[in-house]
Amino acid sequence: MSLEQLCIDKGMRMTEQRRVIARVLELASDHPDTEELYNRAIKIDSGISISTVYRTVALFEDAGIIERHDFRDGRARYEPMPDAHHDHLIDMKSGKVIEFHSEEIEVLQEAIARKLGYRLVDHRLELFAVPLPAEDQQKDDT
Ligand SMILES: [Zn+2]
Repeated sequence: MSLEQLCIDKGMRMTEQRRVIARVLELASDHPDTEELYNRAIKIDSGISISTVYRTVALFEDAGIIERHDFRDGRARYEPMPDAHHDHLIDMKSGKVIEFHSEEIEVLQEAIARKLGYRLVDHRLELFAVPLPAEDQQKDDT
């Protein structure tokens, strides 16, 4: 379902500018911050202000249709609420964000919570990493 439709379903009033920002968020796969969203949004509608982007993003976040991340670069980053859970690896050199899913980690986290007397309802996992030198990179053809 599109972000726009999700907004409408939540009873949000969708102005043209909100529509543009929803579109930009939807097309992004790189977890952009507000400034970057603004740069992309003004290419579609030059009348959009940075404060509109801030307000709209906060609104979307409160409605639970986008997710905010803190990848330790001092900026809040956003992505549409994913259909399937994933975690992130942040390349500290380039700032690139890689999405991954590990069933082993998922199972392990649940086991840890259970051992501590809890039922796991959510988690966040961010790996901060630097690229390995080429000679240490794992070959794919194992
Ligand atoms: Zn992600």
